[in-house]
Amino acid sequence: MKFDALGLCAPILRAVTDAGYTEPTPIQRDAIPPALQGRDVLGCAQTGTGKTAAFSLPLLQRVDQLAGDDPCVRALVVTPTRELAAQIGESIATYGKHLGDLWHTVIFGGVNEKAQIKELKRGVDVIVATPGRLLDLMNRGFVDLSSINVFVLDEADRMLDMGFLPDVKRIVAKLPKKRQTLFFSATMPQEIRELAESMLHDPVSVAVAPVSATADRIEQHLYFVDKSNKRSLLAELLSDGNIKRALVFSRTKHGANRIAQFLEKRNVASAAIHGNKSQGARTRALEGFKAGNLRVLVATDIAARGIDVDGVSHVINFDLPNIPETYVHRIGRTARAGNSGIALSFCEEEEREYLVDIERLIKRHIQRIETHGFVASQPPPPMTDLEGRGKSSSSSSGRKKSSSRGRGRGRGRGRSSASR
Ligand code: AMP
Repeated sequence: MKFDALGLCAPILRAVTDAGYTEPTPIQRDAIPPALQGRDVLGCAQTGTGKTAAFSLPLLQRVDQLAGDDPCVRALVVTPTRELAAQIGESIATYGKHLGDLWHTVIFGGVNEKAQIKELKRGVDVIVATPGRLLDLMNRGFVDLSSINVFVLDEADRMLDMGFLPDVKRIVAKLPKKRQTLFFSATMPQEIRELAESMLHDPVSVAVAPVSATADRIEQHLYFVDKSNKRSLLAELLSDGNIKRALVFSRTKHGANRIAQFLEKRNVASAAIHGNKSQGARTRALEGFKAGNLRVLVATDIAARGIDVDGVSHVINFDLPNIPETYVHRIGRTARAGNSGIALSFCEEEEREYLVDIERLIKRHIQRIETHGFVASQPPPPMTDLEGRGKSSSSSSGRKKSSSRGRGRGRGRGRSSASR
């Protein structure tokens, strides 16, 4: 099935094509058509299944249809962590870039609230938020949710784990009764089922297999290494000719550049792709990688979205991701189409918590490689207790324009006012 069979409008289809997606994921295939019709959706799906697009694409299309000259908050996405909030905000910017003049902002705690209040005062169409800060700003009169048409509750079970359900219920109580609700949860314990029943009206249920399952097919190794030795370890590993085509993940754009430059100096054909590279440079790098002219492609998670290259022999996590599902998603870039694949991950002292989260998610220990040229100066940490689920940390916020061209609301807000 193709995206154009789902009922999405041309500007959104263009953005999806720009993102490099060719086919909808199962959750997108099943959730988008009823969501576009205004139906409530109960989605059982984890991060990594494409659920963000499954709710963001119909949300954007509906908000775009409803948007008037002055922005008012038409859609609200509530998600448990600031990383997820930031990621969803970025997805909304990506998928909405060819739409009219839509504005969105991301609101979460742990950072100064002034900028968030300023954005809200200027007016936004879509808010992506974590519950605590949103409730606080609502109680102080900075957020008016009376015009909400679409409400998305993301990762409901994690909200429960993190003790956010009372806050979520307080937020829901302030929403208009007549609205569309898209409710997502990876698991459906009794409390979540009851919450869903209380919030949804005649929902369409959609479910997909857990993302953690994909990790089973891939050979995974872990290297404890000091931060300062990561590049040397990478070079050591790449001296093995069996690494035919490697996708190396860096958490930052700057880091991706530095890795690619280091490899170039060592005569390893490589390129970096990230959000600061032009579309042309990204396309060239990707084509070179696909054609086999580049042995290594260094990418950030955002830039790697939609990259679908067959024959990636190795995924190398130069930095561990702070969102555990991202690990599963990254390593899923190898072992495509029934091929085998190998994932090598570097873990420095400060990334040990991320490792705990990852191993709990995939419910297994990644095989430690203890004999390599750059063994960490600190002793390896004890094996993760695989019970329970971890939390992650830190990111940035801001109100973002979801589109690239103005619809002329006549309020003198140039594109630069919300640019990153
Ligand atoms: P999510 O589950 O929303 O966190 O998405 C996981 C990853 O899948 C993100 O990197 C998305 O950019 C990517 N993705 C979402 N939909 C598709 C698609 N239809 N084809 C390829 N990649 C996708």
